[in-house]
Amino acid sequence: MANRELVVGSLSAKPAEKTAGVHEIAVQGKPYSFSMFLINGKADGPTLAVTAGIHGAEYASIAAALDLGRRLQPDALRGRVIIVPVVNMPAFQARSIYVCPLDGVNLNRVFPGKVDGSATEQIADWVFQNVIKQADYYVDLHGGDLIEALVPFTIYPRTGNARVDNASLEMAKAFGTRYLVRSDSIGGSTYATAAHAGIPAILTESGAQGIWQPEAVALHTNGLNRLMRHLGMLTDAVLESLPSILIDQFIWLRSEHDGFWYPNALVDEVVRQGQDLGCVMDFQGNILQAVQAPADGRVLFLVSSLAINKSDPLLAIGA
Ligand SMILES: [Zn+2]
Repeated sequence: MANRELVVGSLSAKPAEKTAGVHEIAVQGKPYSFSMFLINGKADGPTLAVTAGIHGAEYASIAAALDLGRRLQPDALRGRVIIVPVVNMPAFQARSIYVCPLDGVNLNRVFPGKVDGSATEQIADWVFQNVIKQADYYVDLHGGDLIEALVPFTIYPRTGNARVDNASLEMAKAFGTRYLVRSDSIGGSTYATAAHAGIPAILTESGAQGIWQPEAVALHTNGLNRLMRHLGMLTDAVLESLPSILIDQFIWLRSEHDGFWYPNALVDEVVRQGQDLGCVMDFQGNILQAVQAPADGRVLFLVSSLAINKSDPLLAIGA
């Protein structure tokens, strides 16, 4: 069947065309640019949206999105792919941890955004309305931030909509990280908002601490290739299945104080309920918070900065 034209903002790609360019919007009255790739296959198929740089310093994921955008050609593709390698350009350019420097807000907590909201809400609104909503499937690429060590994992949402939940889990399995973490909702996140809107979605995590080793980038790019084969968008190779471990609880531990963070666990370490995981000290070295494992599980990410602020994440356990 013949394919149709792909249009995202001011950019478009006819069937069998590829477009790389910039769409400009106004955020709080100031120009804001989205650099994007639109790849439209010769043959019809699903529409896949891929975003990275929702958090601006998660470099392995950003490098992987750019790599896919440069490499993927219409001839090889069934359907349409929209790639936004750096959604949060102000955060990328400022090397900002967690938040958008325009307003200090975490972009992955305000989806679907608001057209007349704060800067970050306006960015989310444009991405949700123009990129995510026209997709049949959605992948949001992440990794450990500048101050986070992390073992690769993929989050899939559970919304109660069996069709969407099953499709999201199958996407996560196809992507192929070892750990698959079920999320009953992280409010305002890209993938959960997409899933609640009926679009199967996953959030993938690989790379950490401001470095983008080839293997961390490859985990994302190989995962995207496997996912596109799973969705019938690439047909150049058979999809082999990779073993995965399903994790039902994603438990985040947070600092209750400003101060120093002394972790006493390693990323990917298997921990037991009650195990000492570290402490938060005040600036005189007095222990303010002793951190213990609330359940048996595995450390999926761990903040590695000595500086810690009240309500910052310390680590997360998959249980
Ligand atoms: Zn992130």
